[in-house]
Amino acid sequence: MARFILFVLLLLLFYVILYYLIKDMAVRRKKWSRASEPEELVQDPYCQTYIPKRTAVKKRIEGRQYYFCNKDCLRKFLEEKNP
Ligand SMILES: [Zn+2]
Repeated sequence: MARFILFVLLLLLFYVILYYLIKDMAVRRKKWSRASEPEELVQDPYCQTYIPKRTAVKKRIEGRQYYFCNKDCLRKFLEEKNP
């Protein structure tokens, strides 16, 4: 009998964990889609890749704002500009 109660408790615990996981995932998905809606794309002047402005590496050079996909592109772009 004790084993049966333990089994039911485990099942209940499993159900509760699953319920919260699904709830959390739904909330996170909603947040993510809301955040990505006004996504503005910018072009990396070095590798010509389009990247979301939010995640781009920003750098102001000679009064102009540049966006790079990563720090490597920024470094290479600067090296090409000023060898
Ligand atoms: Zn790049």
